[in-house]
Amino acid sequence: MAVVGVDFGCLHSKIGVARHRGIDIITNEVSNRATPSLVAFGPKQRSIGEAAKTQETSNFRNTIGSLKRLVGRTLNDTDVQDIEKKFINASLVDVQGSVGVDVRYLGEKQSFSATQLVGMYLAKLRDIAANELKTGVTDIVIAVPGWYTDIQRRAVLDAAAIAGLNVLRLINDATAAALGYGITKSDLPESDSPRNVVFVDVGHSSLSVAVVAFSKGQLTVKSTAYDRNLGGRDIDYALVKHFSEEFKGKYKIDVMSNPKATFRLAAGCERLKKVLSANHEAPLNIESIMNDIDASSKLTREEYEALIASVLDRISTPLENALKESELTLDQIDAVELIGGSTRIPAVRARIQSAFLGKALSTTLNQDEAVARGATFACAMLSPVFRVRDFRFTDIATYPIKTVWEASPDSPEEDTELLVFPRGNALPSSKILSFYKKEPFTVEAMYDEPSLLPGSINPWVAKFTAKEIPAVSNSDTPVKVKTRLNSNGLMSFEAAFVDEIVEKEEDMDVDAPPDAPPKKKKVKHDVPFVSGTSSLDKSLVESLKEQEAQMHASDKLVMDTEDRKNALEEYVYDTRGKLDDRYAPFVKPEEKEKLLAALQDAEDWLYSEEGEDATKSAYVTRLDALKVLGDPITFRWRESEERVRAITQLRET
Ligand code: ATP
Ligand code: MG
Repeated sequence: MAVVGVDFGCLHSKIGVARHRGIDIITNEVSNRATPSLVAFGPKQRSIGEAAKTQETSNFRNTIGSLKRLVGRTLNDTDVQDIEKKFINASLVDVQGSVGVDVRYLGEKQSFSATQLVGMYLAKLRDIAANELKTGVTDIVIAVPGWYTDIQRRAVLDAAAIAGLNVLRLINDATAAALGYGITKSDLPESDSPRNVVFVDVGHSSLSVAVVAFSKGQLTVKSTAYDRNLGGRDIDYALVKHFSEEFKGKYKIDVMSNPKATFRLAAGCERLKKVLSANHEAPLNIESIMNDIDASSKLTREEYEALIASVLDRISTPLENALKESELTLDQIDAVELIGGSTRIPAVRARIQSAFLGKALSTTLNQDEAVARGATFACAMLSPVFRVRDFRFTDIATYPIKTVWEASPDSPEEDTELLVFPRGNALPSSKILSFYKKEPFTVEAMYDEPSLLPGSINPWVAKFTAKEIPAVSNSDTPVKVKTRLNSNGLMSFEAAFVDEIVEKEEDMDVDAPPDAPPKKKKVKHDVPFVSGTSSLDKSLVESLKEQEAQMHASDKLVMDTEDRKNALEEYVYDTRGKLDDRYAPFVKPEEKEKLLAALQDAEDWLYSEEGEDATKSAYVTRLDALKVLGDPITFRWRESEERVRAITQLRET
């Protein structure tokens, strides 16, 4: 059984696997350690990851990124509208209450929800891991932003289920990095004087900070803070706006009115930005950006930093908030660890540095791979097949959750709200709530301060309805409802019961004084209930999983067909060449004539309308037919080769 951890990034994702040597970040089919987080649709097949990146420029309308920013959201979410304006070229639509895309796929318009898109993407990551490990992959740990709400987390779990994956845990990305840090340190102090480390992750789309206390064998997240919309993409966007303005005057073109030109400018700006991380000046050149104009410009580091000042200025707030909430002073912070691609930007580092004055910024972790490594450690710890050093990690809830219910008619004064899991509550955690109810009742769980949530995410979390309250002798007994906030950060209603206190029926206790009170015992009566969350219905997940499997099989068939077509083509050219060369002494003239004619026939067919786009079996049949003619020749040649080799060996001995 495989042990796999994934850092599901906005731009790229990284995959870690556990092996007996330790944890490795694996490479994909083109030997990259990061796989573009993109899904694309074409006339014949889908392209996912690297394949999607390759065709992005020519098919940008049907190529979808920002997957982790879309999943679990609705079309009218303010965040989604912002993404649509700045970072998405596909057309977003509503798919059964959640955001999705309209694409052209297999020659027709089709729509897919963001959950399905993430399912497709996770299935691709699964295939990359399975290919590397040469075994099936089911168990996985996925790192997600700590600021994800219940609805987003559930959507990722549904997506994983669509990809046939079993998520052992969703881990917050900064916590994953912290776990990777802690588990490899052999010099951690005793728990009475923990080492406090701040992790700062500035990625493509967001910034996360976590203050974490480490001691021997464990870590505790003390506080977290985020800027959900601060990352490399916002810097790229600021540059796009700048050059678009410049080109209006310089070339009389309005780049931002043209999606394709904007897309190409954004790619150019990302390159320019990277050059400026190491150089004080960088050029921008985009051939034929629009209207056949080759656009070029340049930027100095100073100009660049001025252009992105509004992004840079927002860095300090989450850092200060995290420190404040941790209740630690700057003196008590032992290290500041940087992760995420955008911490390579000198100006970003400078801002982090000024928030943690006097502290050295360290990059002891691999800034691109720390999260994936940590997620893989978490998977290894949870997987029954792997033994890792035990390391306890305690994460915390990002948003407060309350329960609300209606007052009973006979007690209009009763409270109707309770804060069950405050912000910072340790995960996992269970709480038992008491309700003095005689009639069936409903309790709903929701986030307490919707203004804390991303965009316009629905604060609703879960619903519980007690269907029938058992009548018990002690009538003032409350109905107890067990709630749980699990390690994935998901809240649910787990159980409901009424404790009845009854007298113990037992043998007369001869030693008991005559006036002793009768012994009591508790009898637990289950309360039948229904509960609901925002997870998709099991039956819907099953049918989406089936649909995914079909698309996967059809993509595979397209690839196999292409592969067989190439094999036929190659055989034609290869054999033709060899007939005049190495096969020449072994072929009779009439044999050669016949084979050449057959090869010509196959070639003509390959370039005919029919052969251009035939079925896999048609290519296989053609190749087999050629081999019937060619194999006897190959056989004679090989036999002679072997004879020569045998003789040479004989001479040598
Ligand atoms: P997120 O964590 O927000 O989901 P992610 O994990 O995909 O995103 P990372 O891989 O951490 O993001 O970082 C990618 C970002 O880092 C991109 O915006 C990329 O342009 C930027 N980046 C990478 N290298 C450099 C560099 N040398 N200079 C400046 N920016 C860089
Ligand atoms: Mg990241």
